[in-house]
Amino acid sequence: MGLFMYPSCRAAGFILSPLPFIIQKGVTTVKGSGDMPKKPNKPCKHPGCPKLTEGIYCEEHREVHRSDRMTSNKRGYDSHWRRARKRFLAAHPLCESCRENSILVAATVVDHIIPHRGDDRLFWDESNWQALCKRCHDSKTMTEDRYQEYRY
Ligand SMILES: [Zn+2]
Ligand SMILES: [Zn+2]
Repeated sequence: MGLFMYPSCRAAGFILSPLPFIIQKGVTTVKGSGDMPKKPNKPCKHPGCPKLTEGIYCEEHREVHRSDRMTSNKRGYDSHWRRARKRFLAAHPLCESCRENSILVAATVVDHIIPHRGDDRLFWDESNWQALCKRCHDSKTMTEDRYQEYRY
């Protein structure tokens, strides 16, 4: 192909004539280096998996381990919170906001007085918790600038 292109370009214009030859050489070089792996591959960390990967796990096990870790973390967090919330509501059965107005309403929500916004210390600090009924909680969350995704 190079042999064919070179003379035809030379016929079209003598100044441009060497260029196709250089490009042709460049393509050959790129193609050659493309056969070489960019990173050394390591074996997959999954027990008994012989596949090589650039990361920790091969593509198949990467998915498996990611979902494993995420669901078990989320599950542990949720059940911890559910237990803590239940215990707190048992000790504080009435809505604290309604009680200030001498109204006795059963509390159903454990609210964070200072919005925790994902801060674990604020989230689990019981002095930052207050028992509220759903109505008070909803009106509080509606009037305050809060991050929806962290509301419980
Ligand atoms: Zn694997
Ligand atoms: Zn209330």
